[in-house]
Amino acid sequence: MQNEQQRYVLGAREDNGRYPVTVDGTPAGSIYRRHGSWFPVMPGHRIQGRSTTRFGAAEILVTAVDQGQRPTVPVQAARPRTPRAMDIATRSYTYLIPDLRPTVPNLVRAVEAMARLAELAWQPLAGYPGADQPWMMQCQLCGWEGRRFWSHLRGRNGDRTPRPITRHPGCLPVADHAEQIAKFTAEFTVTCECEFKHPTTVSKATDVLSSLQNAAKGSPLALLYARPILEPCPASSKRALALRCALNYLNAQK
Ligand SMILES: [Zn+2]
Ligand SMILES: [Zn+2]
Repeated sequence: MQNEQQRYVLGAREDNGRYPVTVDGTPAGSIYRRHGSWFPVMPGHRIQGRSTTRFGAAEILVTAVDQGQRPTVPVQAARPRTPRAMDIATRSYTYLIPDLRPTVPNLVRAVEAMARLAELAWQPLAGYPGADQPWMMQCQLCGWEGRRFWSHLRGRNGDRTPRPITRHPGCLPVADHAEQIAKFTAEFTVTCECEFKHPTTVSKATDVLSSLQNAAKGSPLALLYARPILEPCPASSKRALALRCALNYLNAQK
């Protein structure tokens, strides 16, 4: 590294909380900070690794470029300011608390919707608003951000095909979607290995839902109990299933 010239340039922080990164003069992606670490992002790629510094995260993008990876779509220039800017800048699991009344059934619906979004390589940028309300999210295949309806993404009448089939205007060709989505789902697991444990068994899920039910309804404290079920987790599909079973079990006890 000594005399080598720094090959990346960090841009100014954008409204979505990310810092664009240019490598050798070409936009390569961006970096963002979460839970004290810096993560690199390149549209269309799953970039592994994190760093304790923004510079380390930018270096990971330099390495990715050297390995031949390039953004699969042109990286967007700075976006216009949106009202969500502050929410996202201070993002934590609390931004995933549903816009609906945070009752236990609504929380479980939100968890199920988010687990399915993860399977489809969509990242929610706001709490679940209900099936028929526009929901702000990001396409992980290309970085597009906009509003989609859960009622369209979940499919209907047992057909789980999300609509529209093109995802959104300007996404990658439909023929490439399955292969690209597989990059994001390859790391999914059935057990949680996160530092902060997320419930993936019915008995653990029942404990969490009981705590939520017993906490004062809608209080900020009650929402603290929502953390293990709302936070992103590689086992989110299993967690959603466990929570649905736990909710059915609790309802049968009444
Ligand atoms: Zn897209
Ligand atoms: Zn986890």
